[in-house]
This record gives sequence, C-alpha cells and structure tokens, in this order.
Amino acid sequence: MAITLPDLPFKKDALEPHISARTFEFHHGKHHKTYVDNLNKMIEGTDLATADLETIIKKSAGDSGKAGIFNNAAQVWNHTFYWNSMKPGGGGKPTGSIAKQIDAAFGGYEKFADAFKTAGATQFGSGWAWLVMKGNELQVMKTANADTPMAHGIKPLLTVDVWEHAYYLDYQNRRPDYLKTFVEKLINWDFVNACLG
Ligand code: MN
Repeated sequence: MAITLPDLPFKKDALEPHISARTFEFHHGKHHKTYVDNLNKMIEGTDLATADLETIIKKSAGDSGKAGIFNNAAQVWNHTFYWNSMKPGGGGKPTGSIAKQIDAAFGGYEKFADAFKTAGATQFGSGWAWLVMKGNELQVMKTANADTPMAHGIKPLLTVDVWEHAYYLDYQNRRPDYLKTFVEKLINWDFVNACLG
C-alpha cells in the first residue's frame, strides 16, 4: 500500500495574501510530494511496505537504522497536519471547547498566542511548533527537523511549520512575522476542536 500525497484542503491561492500560491506550489507540490516519494522508495520490499503512515512512524521512531524512513514518514504526516491547521479567514481567538481549555491552561488566549509564537521563533534551525495534549495537560511545544509529538505518545492539536521553505518566498528571513500572521489570520480552530474529540 503506497503512501499517497493528500490534496491541500483549500485552493492553493486561498490563503493569499498571507501565504502565496507560489509557496504552496513548492511546499505541497515539491517538498511534501518528495517526502511521499522518498518514503515509498524506502519502504518498498521491507516489513513496512504495507503499513499505514502512523504505524510506519511509530515503528521507525528511535531506530537509528530507520532514520531515513522516520524522517520522511514524519514529514509526510506533519505537512498534512499543518495544511489542516490553517483555513481562509482563520486565526484570532478560538471558539468552542478549545477556547475554554486554553483559558484554563495558559491564563488566556494572549498568553497562549505568545507562547506559541515564541516556540516557533526559538526553534533553532528547522522544525515545528505545536499545541498538544500531553496526558490531560494542554501544552505548547516545539520539535526539531521531522520530529513529531505523535511518535512520542503526545496528541497533536495544531502545528506550524518553521522550516525556511514554509515562509521564505513570502517573508524571507522574517519568521516572527510569518508566525504572527499564522496566529492572527490562519489557525483553523474548527480543526483543533475536532482533534480534541
Ligand atoms: Mn515544510
């Protein structure tokens, strides 16, 4: 069962002017696709060839002999989760269950927003910032390179990609501006609420 590249959940120009169609042409059409293609080549003929993506990630996590498989599989998963973390007309204060939980865990939306932007801005080099449910605790965290909370038994609720390829065409080196826009204009709180379950 080959792993497939999912379509974007919106048209590639739907998040303009915040993230351009050109960024999605490269980020989804080239970067995400390459992780899918690399993963399929790496698992072909192995015991993971017929496994689903989450199984591949969990079985290769922490296995130095399978680092290439883990990195590509986790990047496939993280990117799909990131696309779903955004929507046209998103961002700003949350609604629904997550709004109450953010108030309880962080002491208000503004404190959550600061913590999330800081996590993304301070991830040295490539990686991801996340809102997660760790046990029963709502937390902000960051991961390096391809690493993903779901490989460590932590439930992801929201992510932003802070690899340079995510923002360089639109923001050049201004990662904090990209993070501010993500929080204020793009977060898909409906998706976050759905992940809370
Ligand atoms: Mn990326």
